[in-house]
Amino acid sequence: MKNNKFYQINNFMGMNAKYEEANVVVFGVGFDGTTSNRPGTRFASSSMRPEFYGLETYSPLLKLDLEDYKICDIGDLELSIGDTDKVLNEIYEGTKEIVKDNKIPLMIGGEHLVTLPSFKAVQEKYQDIHVLHFDAHTDLREEYNNNKNSHATVIKRIWDIVGDNRIFQFGIRSGTKEEFDFALENNHTYMEVESINTFEEIVKKLKNKNIYLTIDLDILDPSIFSGTGTPEPGGVTYKEFQNIFTILKKYNIKIVGCDMVELSPDYDNTNVSTITACKILRELTLVLSNNYKE
Ligand code: MN
Ligand code: MN
Repeated sequence: MKNNKFYQINNFMGMNAKYEEANVVVFGVGFDGTTSNRPGTRFASSSMRPEFYGLETYSPLLKLDLEDYKICDIGDLELSIGDTDKVLNEIYEGTKEIVKDNKIPLMIGGEHLVTLPSFKAVQEKYQDIHVLHFDAHTDLREEYNNNKNSHATVIKRIWDIVGDNRIFQFGIRSGTKEEFDFALENNHTYMEVESINTFEEIVKKLKNKNIYLTIDLDILDPSIFSGTGTPEPGGVTYKEFQNIFTILKKYNIKIVGCDMVELSPDYDNTNVSTITACKILRELTLVLSNNYKE
């Protein structure tokens, strides 16, 4: 961890291991430069760190405790302003360093486009990688606002890299007809519309694969998660969503890289969205640590 600059105001509670000894490395990426509707996801990680202190380090759901693991929060990655390509490269280089050191990167976005450089850095090491994608939106556009790199095209860009039978999408309830046709009619991706009921069945089949997990938090229903740029009614409840952690733990799934994106804290003045994101971060970190294999 020499070449990239990170800055830190305060740590996520229970994530104070030294970088050298950590298995899971958490970092923030405050980029929302291609956001089409309501910006603000750049503030996600800085709003989450203080709220995280309201949680316990122990998860009754998973029966695991943050204090039993070596997790390091290295702060927020310093990013250039106003130049998307430059920012994507900075995220790529930052993630690559963590991957090279045999640690699992857990990135907190930012808008969903930040997944692309993080994924690329992980995929270079794990060529057989499979992708689990949670989202309200397909994110399968070929381009958006004349731009090939956007939060609305990010999964299509990942498909360009990995091709068919590698991407598994859950909770999807918004997109163009072309995007749904691409996924459903041509089977380019596995897509479960509206729900996450088939998650366990899919995970069973991926038991021995290397997995990249990307969580767009707008998969949750806006009634419990209004703090996001593109809220989409008809989403899953928190209780439904938390099953994914139980299932990932049960099958001991090897997650080699992951992210959670699209919390836009200022659209929820109760802070419940931020607290919900914190709880998801805790469960995710615990599963990653529990399932960690060299
Ligand atoms: Mn998305
Ligand atoms: Mn989305």
